[in-house]
Amino acid sequence: TLGMPSVGGSVLLADPRGYCAGVDRAVITVEKALDLYGAPVYVRKQIVHNKHVVNNLAARGAVFVEELDEVPEGATVVFSAHGVSPMVHAEAAERSLKTIDATCPLVTKVHHEAKRFASEGKHILLIGHIGHEEVEGTAGEAPDDITIVQTPDDVDDLEFPEGARLSWLSQTTLSVDETMETVRRLREKFPQLEDPPSDDICYATQNRQVAVKEIAKDADLVIVVGSANSSNSVRLVEVALEAGAKASYRIDDISEIDEAWLVGVEKVGVTSGASVPDDLVQDVLGYLSEHGHPDADAVRTADESLIFALPPELRKDMKAAG
Ligand code: SF4
Repeated sequence: TLGMPSVGGSVLLADPRGYCAGVDRAVITVEKALDLYGAPVYVRKQIVHNKHVVNNLAARGAVFVEELDEVPEGATVVFSAHGVSPMVHAEAAERSLKTIDATCPLVTKVHHEAKRFASEGKHILLIGHIGHEEVEGTAGEAPDDITIVQTPDDVDDLEFPEGARLSWLSQTTLSVDETMETVRRLREKFPQLEDPPSDDICYATQNRQVAVKEIAKDADLVIVVGSANSSNSVRLVEVALEAGAKASYRIDDISEIDEAWLVGVEKVGVTSGASVPDDLVQDVLGYLSEHGHPDADAVRTADESLIFALPPELRKDMKAAG
């Protein structure tokens, strides 16, 4: 029934939501690597920021590690969708690890932009969250030429010598509106600021924010399925509240729903982050159905059809294996 609007539905289901092309590719990469090489397959960091995805892959023989020194010499290791700094590639080569790089191509694009700006002698203001793996990876491309800017207010504290050549880039999973505000303030303070060739906030992040805004206008409560360390999922809660939802909560799964949230609520909006399998969303719809909200209307704001090819090093081995 999903996707078939029913009149008067009391649940508004955002579309697009859930898996993006980069997450889909990264998860399939680990699954195929397990099929091809057998367990264990090591994965540096969570392949994508979702607890359920990580647990499921771990049950099938993926071994998640924080750093490469936990991977035995010569073993196979997958790099996560968030990307890695050149130092990690170098360490893998030094330790003779076989690597499969599941970095999302849209993250790789930002790495290339960072390298290019730095090689042109520009200092880069990287808008993003300190400590997020993607930001660590991107910053590693030009560690001496990057300053991380976390919020619009951070701009006040930035100082550069007169005439400094400046450019900006961003993490792929930020709030579009907040990032534009940061850029506006950067440009106000540093009029010479050079723009990246294209948006760094990816299509999936943007589309999920547009969709959640649309449902949040009419919803008393917006439930966002996603893990706490998922940047784009956490942003969806913020965007929903800014767009007018009276309340919004992030949950990993239905076990975290508090029945009290539903008291006095007429319309519930539901969405999910880019790393979230849709069965977790279907569970939420089932829960809501049992708690007085049986009808779900899909609210579609964009069509998505992007698919990324699997990493070439994996495709080569798959081909060789027949
Ligand atoms: Fe790639 Fe965007 Fe998905 Fe991140 S959220 S994996 S950048 S498509």
